[in-house]
Amino acid sequence: MDRKLFLKYLAATTGMITIGSFNRIGESLEEQDITMPVLFVGHGSPMNAIEDNQFSRRWAALGKEISTPKAVLCISAHWLTRGTFVTAMDKPQTIHDFGGFPKALFDVQYPAPGSPLFAGETVKMVKSTQVGLNHDWGLDHGTWSVVKNMYPDATIPVFQMSIDYGQSMQYHYNLAKELSELRKKGVLIIGSGNMVHNLGMVAWDKMTADNYGYDWAIEMNEIFKKNILSKNDAALIDYIKLGPGAMLSIPTPDHYIPLLYTLGLRDDKDQASIFNDKMVAGSLNMTSVSFSHQLLNGDVPVINGSDSTQVDSSSLKQ
Ligand code: ZN
Repeated sequence: MDRKLFLKYLAATTGMITIGSFNRIGESLEEQDITMPVLFVGHGSPMNAIEDNQFSRRWAALGKEISTPKAVLCISAHWLTRGTFVTAMDKPQTIHDFGGFPKALFDVQYPAPGSPLFAGETVKMVKSTQVGLNHDWGLDHGTWSVVKNMYPDATIPVFQMSIDYGQSMQYHYNLAKELSELRKKGVLIIGSGNMVHNLGMVAWDKMTADNYGYDWAIEMNEIFKKNILSKNDAALIDYIKLGPGAMLSIPTPDHYIPLLYTLGLRDDKDQASIFNDKMVAGSLNMTSVSFSHQLLNGDVPVINGSDSTQVDSSSLKQ
């Protein structure tokens, strides 16, 4: 082979290698699983927004563990409506929807941009009902108390979907399934509420006690976790039949419904992991769950209250 021919050959093979690698990279990118996790977060007291505690620290860690989302969609217990809406403004206001807390909490601003783009996508995606675009709401504390800790820079767009409070539990679960494409488009979906949430029975003198729960609340916490990890969604939808503690845990379903959205969004590849598994002030729990194709650091499924090793939820199927 003369020099000219050799160079020509080299150029051709180099070109082939380059194209080949490019293709391989391209293919691997396409094959890469970019489905975003789904989180149910027990948000508890609004003070968790500004306190450095075990709950807020876990939220901050999750913000680092989860690959950066294109946007965050939050279904918060604190936005109840007739009909379903998504916030569609460029700059959602920080809503201080509580009373009797220190000025420092009212001073909090979370200036994340909104996501008119993904709000529009959501409207197009949902076929079973007409989702409305909302320009008045913003980010209530169910959203910003959690997301502020996850993404303190407030650079990731955040939008909310309301809870149509006149609808059945099955409706919310089914509606969630229509949102599943958002996960593949890089949207992190968070349901923000609490499974055990009875404000009328709160032991105010035990607010700062670690893991203090009434017997019925502890029992319900275990029942919720068992059904989540064993994928018994039907039982969780029909929660009234879960036991005598169910009505005490869920006197009104506003804080429970966000969990149903996250259950509806779970797919076959998701591993469920429990975090912030603690009781607060007797009649509240902070128990939270991530549904993720890759197990997140620090997520440890907890069964029957004992810190176990990581468990594949499929092995717990009943
Ligand atoms: Zn709340």
